[in-house]
Amino acid sequence: DKIQEERLKYLTDQKGIKAVTVLFSDLEGRLHMLDYDKKFLVKSYDNLTFDGSSIRGFTAQRESDLRLGIDWSAFYFAPADYFGSGKVLVFGEVIDKNGAPYTGDMRGVLKTYADSLHAKHGYTLNAANEIEGFLFAGVNAEKNFPQTGRFDYVNTGGYYHSLPGDPLRSFIDTAAELQRAMGFENEKDHPEVAPSQFEINYGYGEVVAAADQIQIYKLICRQVATRMGMTASFLPKPVVGVNGSGMHTNVSISKDGKNLCWDPNGEEKISKFAWDFVDRILTHGNDICLLLNSSVNAYRRLDPHFEAPNQIKASAVDRGSMIRIPIGNEKSSRVEVRSVAPDSNPYLVLYSIFKSGLDGETATVANLRQAERYLPDNIYTAIENFRNAPWTTKLLGEDVKARYADLKQASADRCPRQLGTFVKPSEVQFH
Ligand code: GLU
Ligand code: MG
Ligand code: MG
Repeated sequence: DKIQEERLKYLTDQKGIKAVTVLFSDLEGRLHMLDYDKKFLVKSYDNLTFDGSSIRGFTAQRESDLRLGIDWSAFYFAPADYFGSGKVLVFGEVIDKNGAPYTGDMRGVLKTYADSLHAKHGYTLNAANEIEGFLFAGVNAEKNFPQTGRFDYVNTGGYYHSLPGDPLRSFIDTAAELQRAMGFENEKDHPEVAPSQFEINYGYGEVVAAADQIQIYKLICRQVATRMGMTASFLPKPVVGVNGSGMHTNVSISKDGKNLCWDPNGEEKISKFAWDFVDRILTHGNDICLLLNSSVNAYRRLDPHFEAPNQIKASAVDRGSMIRIPIGNEKSSRVEVRSVAPDSNPYLVLYSIFKSGLDGETATVANLRQAERYLPDNIYTAIENFRNAPWTTKLLGEDVKARYADLKQASADRCPRQLGTFVKPSEVQFH
């Protein structure tokens, strides 16, 4: 196609580019990167293979060979000071040996779904994520946690509280600069409520690109922090007694450039279409909780005392609700899903939110939007809900559903069951 042709020509013409880094993610959302020599890639882009059995959640050993396709539309410049000289980044598509999109590649699943909605209804799915994180002293703070048993702040801050030259401010500035260089449309950034916590906001995008940007955002933050001798952590609740980190997921659907969520006469100024979407997500709130909160640690965050939700409700104001309807206008009108943790797989998060909201069922519960229903407060309950829900089989298919649940079960079993203290060394997962 045209974009492929253009990008191949670009790669060939740009003598400064030596290598292409291909990115893809495993079932739990860990980002993987493979570097191809540019000349090799330009010749062989339609015949790239790799061993899927070494990627968690992918194939079993006996069916291990997978192909890697290139999504030429997902192309990013890689600033040399952070990525090494002469590289560009591009996202890959995992393909099974029969040439079909591989069912364990959630990026592919999300893309197929988004494309099918566009073909069928003319919908464009939009997402914007508010990704919070902590900046801790020392490189490898997460890795060293089992020994040290603590995370050290780099400032004592608080919301919007930082001075020029403060390490947190320098970190945010540098990360934001790198984002801009990579094509993000930054909007605002600030220290968050907890000490040493940050949030950098950027503009919304079409759903697959939005998920890719989540992966790149976390990559950027980690690289910048490491360079400064610190650690960027996306653990949902690293420190007891202060706010955790969320990844509020703002979603809207547009058609022919018109935002279908907006209705100036609707309740909270959103349309019936948007409220139906909300009702279906609330209906499946427990079914998909494990996909939005995929780690043991994520369940410690879901506490309304710290601006994180634990109720399966929708509200314009209450930050203890799973869904909030922010004030908006024709352009920005949207639904905010707050019960999402930043260490979950962004492709799975966005896929399960959109598919539940558009294709799910609506419960016949009285007063669904305000009923007293709670999200699970631990991962075991979430795993059970996920396994028992017919809806998650429809979302993922038997095979991927079982594989995902088994991975989560294994990670939960690595942690002691008692919930007395926060963050057991074994619950720090590396992404
Ligand atoms: N840190 C809060 C959370 O865990 C969110 C704070 C905010 O509303 O930005 O979701
Ligand atoms: Mg925030
Ligand atoms: Mg928010």
